[in-house]
Amino acid sequence: MPYWDKINKCLENIVKACHKYGIKVVEHHSSHLTFDPLDSQDWDYMERVLNKRHSSIDSWEGLRDYLTKDPIINGKPLSSFRQVDGRTGKWARLLYHGYAMCFNNPNYRLAYFSYLESVYKTGVDGIMTDDVQWFGDGHACACQYCRELFKQLYKAE
Ligand SMILES: [Zn+2]
Repeated sequence: MPYWDKINKCLENIVKACHKYGIKVVEHHSSHLTFDPLDSQDWDYMERVLNKRHSSIDSWEGLRDYLTKDPIINGKPLSSFRQVDGRTGKWARLLYHGYAMCFNNPNYRLAYFSYLESVYKTGVDGIMTDDVQWFGDGHACACQYCRELFKQLYKAE
């Protein structure tokens, strides 16, 4: 998130260059997956992923420090957007060594739609919102918002 302005500026340059030659640009991103390294294996995984893209953790100034914090988004901690594993009541982890955000969390939705607006402003012709199929630890989310929606939908007590 601290690099979105920089990334969107780069995207805007790509869009302008492509449009000059009649090429359309569809931006692709994960809609809700995050890197949240908890141990050395997670940090190594993240470094390998970035290396495959000719980057590294240290290519992004302040990234190591940023990932050890819980950023505040619209007055809410990012961790409050995370999916919850109903079996344990804990935040659900993913094979990408991070957390997934809950699509039913109104604060996450507000933040994500704001992000989408910033991408649209770059002039892209389309957006591919990826990873919507991921549920933390392979199970449906059981956060407070999902539980409330379940109760409303199925008239459960
Ligand atoms: Zn949820």
